[in-house]
Amino acid sequence: MNVSLLNLKAQYAGLKPEIEAKVLEVIASQQFVLGPEVEALEKEVAALSGTARAVGVSSGTDAILVALMALEVGPGDAVLTTPFTFFATAGTIARLGARPVFADIDPVTFNLDPLRARDALAAFRKREPGVRVKAVLPVHLYGQCADMDAFLALGRDEGLAVVEDAAQAIGADYPSGSGVRKAGACGQAGTLSFYPTKNLGGFGDGGMVLTNDPGLGRRLRKLRTHGETERYFYDEVGGNFRLDALQAAVLRVKLRHLPEWQKKRRALAAAYNRKFAETGLQAEGAVVPPAAVHEFSGAADYHTFHQYVIRAADRDGLRDFLRENGVGTAVFYPLPLHLQKCFASLGYRPGDLPVAEKASKEVLALPIYAELRTDEQDYVVDKIREFYSR
Ligand SMILES: *Cc1c(COP(=O)(O)O)cnc(C)c1O
Repeated sequence: MNVSLLNLKAQYAGLKPEIEAKVLEVIASQQFVLGPEVEALEKEVAALSGTARAVGVSSGTDAILVALMALEVGPGDAVLTTPFTFFATAGTIARLGARPVFADIDPVTFNLDPLRARDALAAFRKREPGVRVKAVLPVHLYGQCADMDAFLALGRDEGLAVVEDAAQAIGADYPSGSGVRKAGACGQAGTLSFYPTKNLGGFGDGGMVLTNDPGLGRRLRKLRTHGETERYFYDEVGGNFRLDALQAAVLRVKLRHLPEWQKKRRALAAAYNRKFAETGLQAEGAVVPPAAVHEFSGAADYHTFHQYVIRAADRDGLRDFLRENGVGTAVFYPLPLHLQKCFASLGYRPGDLPVAEKASKEVLALPIYAELRTDEQDYVVDKIREFYSR
């Protein structure tokens, strides 16, 4: 049997007529960049996320970039973030001439640890008193919200803007003492990605910035189109960060199905958890299933399960065995960002952020998507069981 990590063809098969009709409408309109489809998507995603504004942009990467630009992160500044994330989280900081300051992660959720972030900030300020730390950028990794109350408190105490990288967590609930908020709606700005493999994926690149601050929303819109105030007049330098109408049209069709897909993903995650408990793999310590820390808060969307990620003993051996048996897996992420070659000048050494480094050697993402069948999921677990009983 072959079970791929993700099967977008199966998703498309169920949506083909709907999507093709919408795409043909956009083609007939010949309005390809921004326009009514993008505006409608912005309204719908803002409503889903409970934010006042949403600004459609060219990718999840550009969403982070333009959000940091709007918050005036620039040369000589620094931004506090996690080393255990997709490259774009820190790449965008560096592209603006600012310095990523990495702090270690929580071993249970893999998200940036607020206490370690506070310590890393204090240590950095002591070492580099001339560098201004402008923002903290937590990531809602795999689809589970980071500890936003703690990061908002850190932002308030230390004068930092809070930007959430919610690329993997569209619609995820963050339950806290002050009620339930959505991923990307807690800080000054939140960013989404519509990369095809994300939970809400387009037919190419796309992204969005969420904010509750109308002034910031206007600034983001301006920066999205080169900093233009009126046609061919510019009062600052922005970029071309616009979202295509074709992407928006596809995304609007898919958005209607997102709640049922997220529900399916959570059901599949629960089934994996159950199977790992039943097979004894968890008790043996061979497999540590992911902990959904917001599950018992009463919030329905406690995790988007963008990825279902286990810690596995002999991870690379298991991965090879699963590959030989037709099961697709992935490692998010094999080398933490503080140890990437491109950041060598920042001066981090192996051992500096041990929790992230250990995670990078143990994590393995298993197939999870709405169309995954029970027999396919059973096969994945059977093969994992087989690997550990050899
Ligand atoms: C996907 C992703 C991004 C970048 O999004 P793109 O649309 O691919 O540019 C940024 N951060 C995280 C955590 C992501 O998963």
